[in-house]
Amino acid sequence: MKNSIVLIAILITTLSCVTEEKIEDVVVIGGGLMGSSTAWELSKNGQNVLLIEQQDSIYTYGSSFGEARISRSLGPKDDIFSYLQQTSVSETSNLIDYLNEGKKETLHSMEDIYTTSPVTYIFSKFQLSDAEALLNGPKDNYKYASNKAEAEQLFGMNIPDTSLVIREFKEYSGTLNPKVLIKKLHLGIRKSGNRVNYNQKVTDLRKENGIYKITVVDVKSGENQTILSKKVVAAAGPYNGTLVKDVAPYFSSLISPKRLFLSFLKIKSDTYDLMTNEQRDRLNSSYPVAYLNSEIFYSMIEKYDENNRPLLKVGGHFLRTEIEDLDAVWEKELAAEEILWSKKNTADYLNKLNITVALSDLEYARGYSCVYSLTESETPIVSHAIVKNKEVDSSFVLIGGMSGIGAKGALAYGLIAADLVSGNENKSLIYQKAKSALGSKRLIENIQKINK
Ligand SMILES: Cc1cc2nc3c(=O)[nH]c(=O)nc-3n(C[C@H](O)[C@H](O)[C@H](O)COP(=O)(O)OP(=O)(O)OC[C@H]3O[C@@H](n4cnc5c(N)ncnc54)[C@H](O)[C@@H]3O)c2cc1C
Repeated sequence: MKNSIVLIAILITTLSCVTEEKIEDVVVIGGGLMGSSTAWELSKNGQNVLLIEQQDSIYTYGSSFGEARISRSLGPKDDIFSYLQQTSVSETSNLIDYLNEGKKETLHSMEDIYTTSPVTYIFSKFQLSDAEALLNGPKDNYKYASNKAEAEQLFGMNIPDTSLVIREFKEYSGTLNPKVLIKKLHLGIRKSGNRVNYNQKVTDLRKENGIYKITVVDVKSGENQTILSKKVVAAAGPYNGTLVKDVAPYFSSLISPKRLFLSFLKIKSDTYDLMTNEQRDRLNSSYPVAYLNSEIFYSMIEKYDENNRPLLKVGGHFLRTEIEDLDAVWEKELAAEEILWSKKNTADYLNKLNITVALSDLEYARGYSCVYSLTESETPIVSHAIVKNKEVDSSFVLIGGMSGIGAKGALAYGLIAADLVSGNENKSLIYQKAKSALGSKRLIENIQKINK
């Protein structure tokens, strides 16, 4: 009996040593759009990668939570955000091809992720130069109404004389579904032989003797384990600052999470049923919309209900508030003023579309609080960490500060992060421009600013 106890003790010790001593090549922490895209891009390049996510496979929060994000391409000449969106579309197409490879039927399609539809931008006349700069970029298909009469003629819209309207038409511009995209990225990662581990929360991350030591708790069983890795990608969205506090403490000053709200509205059935088919078509082709006023009202069709009534998702890009408790913020109910703001702006837009809707015709279906991670310039960060004396630590990459624009370029940010991890170079000028705008040179300048 005593001998078997000793034997079991030896076995347990040996097994735990084996777990401790296995060293991963790359661990990506955070399985939102950014971490999943990075882990997929690494997988595509044949790298061994482990993706760790604290939530279960069906997410209930996170910046990527939800079923619709605006995907738009229009931008000024050599605009990096147009490039990132276009690259993300082509990388998504590669993912779809890979998932369908070796299958008798085509199980995956771009249309599972993207809903192609016109994207409408409304500007004020004083933003004329911004509006015209958008039209000066790649030869994307668009229509431009520079006054009230043209808006009526081109889009059937009734706008004040002080507004301008641009409508973009391009394949895969419209909306994309982050929930479906993340699911497919995880399928791709697994198909390549790599792992996605859910319910694993990283509670400590440090570097010792050149190796990352990642303490992880299984949120279901409460068990702890330590994972060792040669390289780490931090992609924890709003949690990045806390996650990297020991390895790159400056990130918590450079990226701030802010609360936003999203309302989901429907036109009440009695009003919707009275709308003509022509009005319904006009409504469907007039979403998504970004109204570039001071708050930036944006809205899109999240999905259609069982009666084919659209569920309109509504938010204000600049309507940000401070967060007291990041873990609890997702549960915070919307304030009455936030719901009212959403209804007023929606009714205003529908009336601009010549669809007469009063506030009382709009039904608040639901709403939730969500979080943007912001950098000072609102340009995301995809960079190696910087260690003492402005040295770049090529074993660590952070992808974050994605603001409200990350989703449309997700796989492009993931591609750049994966290239940084692998040391791959891409000589294209626009790639270099994007990499530099997101990368370490800017980070060094930012760190210097906070150290002053
Ligand atoms: C309201 C709203 C509207 C938006 N609209 C648009 C839009 O119209 N168009 C557009 O292009 N973009 C839009 N965006 C932006 C886009 O959705 C985000 O840029 C993107 O989702 C950010 O993804 P992420 O992976 O960085 O973060 P997240 O999705 O938050 O992913 C981080 C993941 O890390 C996990 N995690 C955190 N800490 C740990 C830990 N310690 N251990 C393990 N896992 C951890 C989290 O659970 C989470 O799943 C919008 C964002 C919001 C919030």
